[in-house]
Amino acid sequence: MFFHVILTSECNSQCLYCFGEAVEDVDEDFGEFDVDYSLPKKINYSVNSLDRFCSLDPDCVLTFYGGEPLLCTEEIKQIMDKVRVKRFMIQTNGLLLDRLEPEYVNRFHTILVSIDGDEALTDFYRGKGTFRRLVDNLKFIKRNGFQGELIARMTVMEQTDIYKQVRWLLDNSEFSFSSVHWQLNAGFWKTDFARRNFEEWSEASYNPGVRRLVKFWVDYMEENGLVLKLYPFLGLARSLLSHEESSFLRCGGGWINYAIQTDGYIVPCPTMWGMKDYYLGHISTADPLRLKQVHIGKPCTECTAFNLCGGRCLYAIVTKRWSPEAYAHVCGTVKNLIQAVYGQMPRIEKFIKKGKVRLKDFEYMKYNGCEIIP
Ligand code: SF4
Ligand code: SF4
Repeated sequence: MFFHVILTSECNSQCLYCFGEAVEDVDEDFGEFDVDYSLPKKINYSVNSLDRFCSLDPDCVLTFYGGEPLLCTEEIKQIMDKVRVKRFMIQTNGLLLDRLEPEYVNRFHTILVSIDGDEALTDFYRGKGTFRRLVDNLKFIKRNGFQGELIARMTVMEQTDIYKQVRWLLDNSEFSFSSVHWQLNAGFWKTDFARRNFEEWSEASYNPGVRRLVKFWVDYMEENGLVLKLYPFLGLARSLLSHEESSFLRCGGGWINYAIQTDGYIVPCPTMWGMKDYYLGHISTADPLRLKQVHIGKPCTECTAFNLCGGRCLYAIVTKRWSPEAYAHVCGTVKNLIQAVYGQMPRIEKFIKKGKVRLKDFEYMKYNGCEIIP
């Protein structure tokens, strides 16, 4: 099982799509949902109770999460010293990576770091100076021996040219990544659709950009014999190659990948923080292998893309922050992505047959924080 450990609700950044939207959406409440807005700002349960919980699952993977988890370096060290798990990972904005000693950083199996593309775009979304500090820290941890997987985790919205920015992250003179994932900022806030230009951007820029990027990904396989870890493509291609269909969320939210709140209650995913109807137990008493599962319902279960999409996002579907008409544009991007990968499968299968790439090259650690469907 995978668990996001929400160490704190506080963050040292004020990103446009998170802090900025929270400010704009301030008068909106969750209506029908009973939400606990008074959760502790930092974890208030004992590390021993987390250890008891994790020790019941021999395959337990913990991902430090926030807010910004590196605001809690002492808690991270205590947990890494005491809690018995198979792996530790972290999802961070990277600005404080230099504050955690290399002996801990180097134990992370995976670091997912928030970066949106080149300096201008990252600083536009995340604040001036973000990119430089982040890149300096990434170089620093590499120099100090970090050898795990480093995933560039982009948040994508209207200012993003997806083709250009993913290509930049893969190959630039500052800091190139070999793993990239992205998530659309879509369906998470109540009032933003009306203020934004999502429909036009998705049709004129994002969807064609994704199609072009899939072609580049497969061209790259042909020319270099390498399968780049572009997670949305990798996950779908792997499913298509193994004829795997799933009616479960690909992020794992609510069935294999849960989140532990700062008060120790377990919820299906970090965004469902405080939503009392979705509390699934407490780490002091729950058994990680017997947690209740929460699955996606309509309209996804009636959608033709469901077996590959898996429903994209439980939070977006249950909270219905965007109207069905608005959310249809998000589903349009999902279908475009699936079609783009599907259309390249004959080439990929041919490369595998010829031995140019191997089936094994499409393997990855599932539920590692990459949701697959952006
Ligand atoms: S495309 Fe949209 S409606 Fe269809 S399964 Fe995915 S999220 Fe659900
Ligand atoms: S895709 Fe949605 S349900 Fe899954 S982890 Fe992200 S916010 Fe949670």
